[in-house]
Amino acid sequence: MTSAPLPVDQWSRPFGVLRLSLTARCNLACPYCCPDSEELPGLMSLDQQVRLVRVACGLGVHTLRLTGGEPLLSDRLLPLLQALARGRVASDDPLARLRDVALTTNGVLLTLDMAEALRAAGLDRITVSLDAIEATVVATMAGLRGGMAAGERLVQQVLGGLRAARRAGFDPVDGGLKLNAVMRRGLNDSQLLPLAELARNLGVELRLIEYMDVGNRNGWSADQVLSSEEMTQRIGERWPLQPMPRASGATSRRWSYADGRGRIGTIASITEPFCGDCNRLRVTADGKAYTCLFASKGLDLHPFLHSEQALESILREIWQQRRDRYSVERQECSVSTPHAEMAYLGG
Ligand code: SAM
Ligand code: SF4
Repeated sequence: MTSAPLPVDQWSRPFGVLRLSLTARCNLACPYCCPDSEELPGLMSLDQQVRLVRVACGLGVHTLRLTGGEPLLSDRLLPLLQALARGRVASDDPLARLRDVALTTNGVLLTLDMAEALRAAGLDRITVSLDAIEATVVATMAGLRGGMAAGERLVQQVLGGLRAARRAGFDPVDGGLKLNAVMRRGLNDSQLLPLAELARNLGVELRLIEYMDVGNRNGWSADQVLSSEEMTQRIGERWPLQPMPRASGATSRRWSYADGRGRIGTIASITEPFCGDCNRLRVTADGKAYTCLFASKGLDLHPFLHSEQALESILREIWQQRRDRYSVERQECSVSTPHAEMAYLGG
């Protein structure tokens, strides 16, 4: 690695977070996300993934989030974590700068054995996604055939996954375990208070995500967006909330419950763009780098994945040329461009 200064982009934003998708496939079919049923051709190898993370760490990355598709479907997940863990304890390895390795999962395959293996392999945090508690609503949100019975089974699997993660040592108190929910008006907004209550009872932070216009397949429309403001207002009427300070580079705004029983976060990328201090690069399972969740095109890293030097110079260049602020621009003009699919980018 060179000793050149850490890169900043055209808006002076540093490179801090790498979101790496391990697969575009999923064992659910949430219609707002629309995953692939087939794997993408040209998946990065394990060596290439480790090289990418190492080089990114040398350029300032301190947080890695592993995502998908459904990352627990990937047989690379554990070997990747193990390889990263070896680098994190070596003082001369840029991987030692990784402060946080996190995973986002739908929780279906999060058995106790899996949770313990993830912990042992060095994973720091897990976020589990669940958009409803009522079985028929869960089934609709997850795109399940089989209605109520399938929805009930999924809720039990996800609750089992949350329990398993906790038992394996992912502690909600220090942010080691969180719950994600995408809210769509008219589809699952009836579930807002039940989800908040569930999270309060489990002691996990609930992160409420505004339905985003990522991808071209989900038929997004603005009238299905439930704003962060409305979500917190509805929850606050039931359990009063106090705003918490926003951390630099954070995507969420956070509130604590006035009764001291936990916190919620909202990700308001539609109604309150947070591009100003966005420090994230997304890389798809097949090695395409995207500088924004809403970007239409990524850069294929394959020609550079063979060497640290080649990767360093292309990632530095990508970052220095980056000028995306789509969420802000979306508010300023009404022109919509094609976007990459969420199941490739991983949220
Ligand atoms: N399969 C895993 C899961 O569901 O957690 C990881 C990948 S998923 C793409 C990551 C996150 O993106 C999930 O919490 C999911 O709910 C969220 N997501 C997917 N499509 C979305 C959309 N159109 N708007 C907002 N959030 C979305
Ligand atoms: Fe699968 Fe996650 Fe997309 Fe749902 S949001 S289809 S669980 S990748």
